[in-house]
Amino acid sequence: MRSIFSILMFLSGTILWAQLPEIDWEELGKTQPWAVTELYKEVPVVNPGDANSAPSDAIVLFDGKDVSSWQKAQFGSPVNMEGFEAMIPLVDPDYEGEAAEWTVRNGELEVNPGTGSIATKQTFGDVQLHLEWLAPVLPEDKTGQAGGNSGVIFMGMYEVQVLNSYENPTYNNGQAASIYKQFIPLANASKAPENWQEYDIIFMAPKFSEAGNMVSPAKVTVLHNGVLVQNNVELLGPTCFIGTPYYIAHPEKLPLVLQDHSDKMRFRNIWVREL
Ligand code: MG
Repeated sequence: MRSIFSILMFLSGTILWAQLPEIDWEELGKTQPWAVTELYKEVPVVNPGDANSAPSDAIVLFDGKDVSSWQKAQFGSPVNMEGFEAMIPLVDPDYEGEAAEWTVRNGELEVNPGTGSIATKQTFGDVQLHLEWLAPVLPEDKTGQAGGNSGVIFMGMYEVQVLNSYENPTYNNGQAASIYKQFIPLANASKAPENWQEYDIIFMAPKFSEAGNMVSPAKVTVLHNGVLVQNNVELLGPTCFIGTPYYIAHPEKLPLVLQDHSDKMRFRNIWVREL
């Protein structure tokens, strides 16, 4: 019985093989049949650098020396979609603002509470971002969202939360590495305060038709300390503190913003690669 089954399998395989279209690999200019599926294209060479440096094709946004790649953000973050509807028509990608007033010390960039969020002078669409951040030890009564808060806000409106989430509970779509008020991270990979933490983020900007309709949502992948915590999630719209987000057309490239949320959060080794 088993041998009959084997013979049938062999015959069906032979028939299938005979049915496959024959590829003339010599006609394709290939020297051997296996070369038909070998592809050649010039691939850019990138020196990946080491733990303390950026890849050779990256745009370094903070290398520990100065804050010259940044300026005061053009607008604060709107709390709801009505705020975005009012703000987005006024957004100017070529905006020249006042100098950023955050503190550069010991190769680190520290939030200067009350001076406002800072934005890159350069504008970006699709990027790979790397940054390192540290939450200081705060008084015991500073917990939840007040317990060491900042944010990486792509295009000035799509926030990946920066928060001390080590033994600091809060709503889960507001903890570290959440897409704020949209997506809970897949894991809490937080380190305790006073430890440096890493974010590696792929951000794909939303795309709009000429008529202003969203044709592709913003998409975000986040690794927090090397752990995948957001896997190509499709954002619902800009980050809203109150209400439900939706898309409003905006320029293809806008600044990257770091949030002043009144805590002395620290950053270092910030770079992006445009995709
Ligand atoms: Mg925040």
